[in-house]
Amino acid sequence: MTKAKGYELAKSASLRSDFYKCHTGAVAIYGNKILAYGWNSEKLSLMQARYNTKTRGFDGHKYKSSIHAEMMVVNKIKYLDVDFSQVRIFVWRGKTTPMLSKPCKACEKAMRDLGIKKVFYTGTNSYISEIYN
Ligand SMILES: [Zn+2]
Repeated sequence: MTKAKGYELAKSASLRSDFYKCHTGAVAIYGNKILAYGWNSEKLSLMQARYNTKTRGFDGHKYKSSIHAEMMVVNKIKYLDVDFSQVRIFVWRGKTTPMLSKPCKACEKAMRDLGIKKVFYTGTNSYISEIYN
């Protein structure tokens, strides 16, 4: 699957967001297979709360930990029997032109913990790829 297609799928997932501010979408791709879609949402997430507490310097259980797009994807794929080092995550933010959607520290840690290494996200009018070591 091409990178362009990955971003297009992540963009389509962003349309499902009900978050009051920005709408972010994410997708996990394994070879040519779509494993799961995610989007940020007003819905609170215990997993997001735990990772917020661990990585973002505030008590994620005390403050509203609404789920991020990448966290929703990780939560959906975490028990799949796949080689996570080969899974690609695409993240999109923006209505038509891309805006920065670099994963926050909580989502980055959740992806790293699962063994995900290939992350592609939008920048301001650009596309950024990162390999986690
Ligand atoms: Zn995040």
